[in-house]
Amino acid sequence: VIGESLRVVVPAGEGRARQAPPGAQVIIETPTGSQVGDLFAFRADDPTEFVSAAHTRVWSGRLFPRIGQPFVSNRRRPLLTLVGDTSPGVHDMLVPACDPERYRQLGVEGWHASCAENLREAVADLGVVVADPPQPVNVFMEVSLDPGGGLALRPSPARPGDRLSLRAEAPLVVALSACPQDLVQISAHGPTDLVLEVRVPEAP
Ligand SMILES: [Zn+2]
Repeated sequence: VIGESLRVVVPAGEGRARQAPPGAQVIIETPTGSQVGDLFAFRADDPTEFVSAAHTRVWSGRLFPRIGQPFVSNRRRPLLTLVGDTSPGVHDMLVPACDPERYRQLGVEGWHASCAENLREAVADLGVVVADPPQPVNVFMEVSLDPGGGLALRPSPARPGDRLSLRAEAPLVVALSACPQDLVQISAHGPTDLVLEVRVPEAP
């Protein structure tokens, strides 16, 4: 709806999804700071096209996104553009979404929430069926590379109230999971809530 703003709390460890028409502003906030979110975006009119962190790394020639640059799809077309970022600017594009097997390998017995399951549940009502989750953009997540090629998953440096602002470049379904990871300390205060907001601009 034109002029509408939809603000939804993504509870700690859960996922939510919303439609974002072309030109909509998508805002992601970590009220407590240091909460990692897995961000996914699918074309609403063809969900086989989706934001791909791997293709975005090649497009931008960077490990982390920069303001003004797009997140491109598995077909190398811009779907979202980063237009604002109050955080330290560290948003991992290397690590896949956590899933049940990840937690099993970390020693969890029984069920544990995961970003892969959160994604499937969040988009199911919006007409998107996910076989294998795309590689997400892990907002506020710090994965650093040492000179020998080693990877280190570090606590998120995002501060309370830090927010990202993105512009939808196509009709999208945007999903955000407030990552439930509590065995590897990537969210310094344990899983906490995120906020997802979609603002649809007034018609000119
Ligand atoms: Zn996760």
